[in-house]
Amino acid sequence: MQNVSTLDELFERAMKTTQIFKNKDVLRHDYIPENLPHREEQIRYFGEIVASVLKGARCSNIFIYGKTGTGKTAVVKYVLAKLFDKAQVLGVPLKICYVNCRLAGTEYRVLASICRALNVRVPFTGLAVGEIFDRFKVALDMHASLLIVVLDEIDELVKTKGDMLLYELTRMNESLFQSKVSLVGISNDLRFKELLDPRVLSSLSEEEIVFRPYNAAELYDILFERCNIAFFDQAFSGGALGLCAALAAAEHGDARRALDMLRVAGELAEREAAVKIMDEHIRSAEKRIEHDRVIDAMKNLTPHSKLVLASVYLLNKADVNSAITGDIYEVYQELCELTAYTALTQRRVSGLISELDIIGLLNSRIVSMGRYGRTKKIRLSVSRGLISKVFSEDETFRCLIDYSPKCLTKVGDHKN
Ligand code: ADP
Ligand code: MG
Repeated sequence: MQNVSTLDELFERAMKTTQIFKNKDVLRHDYIPENLPHREEQIRYFGEIVASVLKGARCSNIFIYGKTGTGKTAVVKYVLAKLFDKAQVLGVPLKICYVNCRLAGTEYRVLASICRALNVRVPFTGLAVGEIFDRFKVALDMHASLLIVVLDEIDELVKTKGDMLLYELTRMNESLFQSKVSLVGISNDLRFKELLDPRVLSSLSEEEIVFRPYNAAELYDILFERCNIAFFDQAFSGGALGLCAALAAAEHGDARRALDMLRVAGELAEREAAVKIMDEHIRSAEKRIEHDRVIDAMKNLTPHSKLVLASVYLLNKADVNSAITGDIYEVYQELCELTAYTALTQRRVSGLISELDIIGLLNSRIVSMGRYGRTKKIRLSVSRGLISKVFSEDETFRCLIDYSPKCLTKVGDHKN
């Protein structure tokens, strides 16, 4: 009976609470607003470069970079959609193909999506990359056309698969007779250029555009415009928006994070049947987003990083709150044996520990040991509960959570 009345109450509340969101879809990541404040300069510059296709000429290749959430994808899609409309009106044979390389995952799939944009059908797997390339060239050259290929999050592909595909694409014009290709490469990683072969880099970055992080005032404007279409007027206030902008600016000026925070805050307010999004909704939303981010980061770790994290977890469980690399390595070796992985060297593990530190799952600090010199002390930066929750959903690593390492009686000496 109790359950029924709780549910009744819950449903009643849900019925009453349509007062926050006017249109929640406009807070989705793929929504492109009609107006992109504080990106006028990038829009104009990108627009100027691609405009040459309207005169029937190939436009320069463009390399765009900036951190996540700085509006790169939004600006590129916005400008190219307008360009495409204009080209249609003028009868220019322009084709545009957008691929997110991170989502595509492999060179094969990137090429397959480029082919699909030209209505060339390729099987999901099976062809050699060279063969798809040939089909693509033939199809493209059948009619004289201008093709703009956008390779978004290109850094992810090059990091795992190298820059062969980019190399081939930058050389394509040499073997085309009627058509021309231009490339727009977008990277979230500012150091991406270092990964490229100098020849690839110089042809990809005929033009370069940098997207700087937004500051709090700029984020405020972006949020304010979006709020007006996402929420009912009474549902948001300048104070809460300001807080949201300040929190996202303190992180790294990521508009996506700011918009996510706003959406989650709206959902929390709605669930509480509040009439307005308040500061505390924004703060809880920030915590929740951070929580989700940590869980995602943990789920996506490579097996060896998971083993390292599990080692620190087990040390912590055995009351060794801050461990040295050597201790972690001993536990790690045991866990490798347990899960049939070949242990990496201590040096590599030390590198993995630094990576886990950067992602925010571990925290390492250098402490002075007096006349024994300095040493690195490593501790968990997330709760044990969270780690055991994520690991318990992992087929392979579930067993680690309740394991008690044999070496732990020895390292117990370092207890602190
Ligand atoms: P990036 O590709 O640089 O990671 P996105 O273009 O995906 O960033 O932008 C992240 C989110 O922020 C998107 O939802 C986008 O609509 C929004 N956004 C970014 N810049 C602006 C802006 N200047 N005005 C309005 N919305 C923006
Ligand atoms: Mg993007």
